[in-house]
Amino acid sequence: MEEITTKNLEETQIFAEELAKKMKGGEVLLLSGDLGAGKTSFTQGFAKGLGISQRIISPTFIIMRSYDILENEKGFKKFFHVDLYRTESEHDIEGLGLLELMSDKENIVVIEWPDRLGKLKPEKRWEISFTTLSENSRKIMIEKYE
Ligand code: ADP
Ligand code: MG
Repeated sequence: MEEITTKNLEETQIFAEELAKKMKGGEVLLLSGDLGAGKTSFTQGFAKGLGISQRIISPTFIIMRSYDILENEKGFKKFFHVDLYRTESEHDIEGLGLLELMSDKENIVVIEWPDRLGKLKPEKRWEISFTTLSENSRKIMIEKYE
């Protein structure tokens, strides 16, 4: 388990950007933490680290957004940013085709509110949890399961 405390938004985004550079393809990152804890902000830095220059907007209302990743030597092609906040059942989630997306080596998938996955939670995953310590300080804990 890795743990860091960031003192501002930029530190969280730089941390995420560095983590993105370690991705090999096929990773699923589950981001948990309260509203405002920094999950979407982290995702913005993460996407930048994957080489995505497009702005990352929270997919809360549409649940999922996909982004093309420019050609790279690692072979991954698409980044999916999923926010399950508004989903209510595993049935909703099955309809998104998430299981297929998560098992494709050409994809990198980041999921906010992953508790909604229930039994659909993949065995191989990174669990990243965010805790608000003060207005600008966040504790980020990372655990990798394989
Ligand atoms: P979530 O997706 O978890 O609901 P957001 O990323 O949308 O959270 O919002 C986090 C908010 O907290 C942003 O307004 C951001 O500027 C602010 N913030 C302050 N300090 C930090 C920090 N250290 N890391 C991440 N975000 C921070
Ligand atoms: Mg969010």
